[in-house]
Amino acid sequence: MYTTYNPLIMIETSAIRIEKTTQSRINELDENNIPFGRLYSDHMFLADYKDGQWQDLRIVPYQNISLSPANSALHYGITIFEGLKAYRNKDGEVVVFRPEANAKRLNISAERMCIPAVPEGLFMEALNELLKIDASWVPSAPGTALYVRPFVFGMDEYIGIRPSENFRFMIITGPVGSYYTKPVRVKIETKFSRAFEGGTGFAKAGGNYAASLYPARLAQKMGFDQLIWTDGKTHQYIEESGTMNVMFMIDDVLITAPTSGTILKGITRDSVLTIAREWGVKVEERPVAVAEVVAAAKEGRLKEAFGVGTAATIAPIATIGYEDEVYDLPAADDSFFSRKILKQLSGIRSGEIADKHGWIYKI
Ligand SMILES: *Cc1c(COP(=O)(O)O)cnc(C)c1O
Repeated sequence: MYTTYNPLIMIETSAIRIEKTTQSRINELDENNIPFGRLYSDHMFLADYKDGQWQDLRIVPYQNISLSPANSALHYGITIFEGLKAYRNKDGEVVVFRPEANAKRLNISAERMCIPAVPEGLFMEALNELLKIDASWVPSAPGTALYVRPFVFGMDEYIGIRPSENFRFMIITGPVGSYYTKPVRVKIETKFSRAFEGGTGFAKAGGNYAASLYPARLAQKMGFDQLIWTDGKTHQYIEESGTMNVMFMIDDVLITAPTSGTILKGITRDSVLTIAREWGVKVEERPVAVAEVVAAAKEGRLKEAFGVGTAATIAPIATIGYEDEVYDLPAADDSFFSRKILKQLSGIRSGEIADKHGWIYKI
């Protein structure tokens, strides 16, 4: 068995060896024209898990890494990740939204995949140091952010199927613009499944996303942007979208599926529900039947539908496809909950609205 660490142990800053680049690529960054997921900042963080402990903590210039052809992550998908964003607030400071929640969730994913926990102190220190060094990569134009991608994967050079003994924890970052530029067209998936009870749906594990690509591609061929997954057993209940949780405003009630073994517990989801409750919006976390959403759409009672996740924050849904029908939703205006909540979250991140929940972490 591997050793796990008390997640509260703080790692000394001096434990991270730092090698800075001599050739910054910051001039490649055009804040007004940032492609999603293509441009990476100057540095990256690495740590190796060997002999039962995390060691060799380092920040080096962003570069390719070398792997054994027998690497256990390549063959068996022993790999998990997180996704969070750093923003520039109104005073020009770099802030991160709820990073401790990502550190915790990484370890929930880790346990399911027999990956050793990354101590929360190590996670936070690595994040803090990396963002300090690459602070100039955090854009300030509206809708932009620095996307932060922590990930852990098996490093065993072993072709047999067993839990890895060696791992690597890395963090890379890259500036991003808005994820979806227009409201999305989604299809309710009733044949394929993303997750099922007892599976890995609650974990941000690489294989979940690999398995979602084929059904998503079929939907894209039909003119949709994204899928809304239904439960793997009956396909009668809405679960979530591929990278976002999903919410519906039916009449004046905000409805979303409860998180379970099959649904990723989104931090954006939690933030939206928290604020909605504070605003006095009626919130229901309960199973959401496809039939209920379709009936509400037909009767004009489905006021809003939107995805919630770090990448897009709030992604309003314009069209829902189900079986052979397509339902169009009203276009969002400033009176919509989805607009107001996006404004609120942006305001908290920029510092224009007080952060009364302690969600903002300053670098
Ligand atoms: C990451 C993710 C989400 C959204 O989680 P956030 O913490 O809000 O970014 C939702 N569903 C899936 C499947 C995800 O991977």
